[in-house]
Amino acid sequence: MKKILLLLFIINQFLFAIEVSSKKVENANTIFLKIVKKNIKNPKLTLDKHNINFFAFPNEKNSYYALIPISYYKKLKKYKIIISYIEDRKKVFKGIPIEVIDGNYKSEVINVDSSKVILSKKNKQRVSKEYEEAMKIYKTTTPKLYIKDKFIYPLETKITSDFGKKRVYNGSLKSYHSGTDYRAKVGTKIKAINNGKVVIAKHRFYAGNSIVIDHGNGIYSGYYHLSKMNYKKGDYIKKGEILGLSGNTGRVTGPHLHFSFRIHGIQVDPLQAISLLNNYL
Ligand SMILES: [Zn+2]
Repeated sequence: MKKILLLLFIINQFLFAIEVSSKKVENANTIFLKIVKKNIKNPKLTLDKHNINFFAFPNEKNSYYALIPISYYKKLKKYKIIISYIEDRKKVFKGIPIEVIDGNYKSEVINVDSSKVILSKKNKQRVSKEYEEAMKIYKTTTPKLYIKDKFIYPLETKITSDFGKKRVYNGSLKSYHSGTDYRAKVGTKIKAINNGKVVIAKHRFYAGNSIVIDHGNGIYSGYYHLSKMNYKKGDYIKKGEILGLSGNTGRVTGPHLHFSFRIHGIQVDPLQAISLLNNYL
């Protein structure tokens, strides 16, 4: 894990503090941003025309935080984060320059072109229905934050495939590994990494038996290919509780846990996001 840079700028005359986890961020990583300012209303943030919500920072007065997920496919260049808020009925803008740099993810050459694996019409419809359904959930931001303290990991076993590995076919990037794979024989207990509400608990075509937890404020974790699910949609779950057992359901070559993380709908490196959030919890 790369060291997180902490940059703190305090402009004394305005008593305005901005804290940014890093001004250089790798693709598929997340930025944490916090502002401290008295008597402001409606703080907002924009990056590359995308609006991102600020939330009250837990247990701190006049503090607001935002998580900025950078997509895997984000163009590597310099950007400006624009923060705005209302103060004395006037709208105030602040710009923060950042740069998206290459995460240098490893490549794996795929011999079978996955796009040429023909799905039946019925399965195709199922896959797209499941995708739409999940995206609708991921793009929903729950104002309540269920998290009270640091994240844990779903398993402590060996990581067998890192997040972000490029899948190259015929010399061109086809896709990437969208989660972190943990070694887990069928029946291994999988822990909830933090408190939240179960928003998906069902069998899906690719992911098999899947549990997705909403941790609040746009943060979601996912646990796939399970052999058993201990919770159903709508249940509340606490950190460390056994959400289910690992397995090999869905489209897999062998049993393992595929662990994924989304922030504001964007798929990000789960381990970087956890390490980042744990710095502030
Ligand atoms: Zn995986």
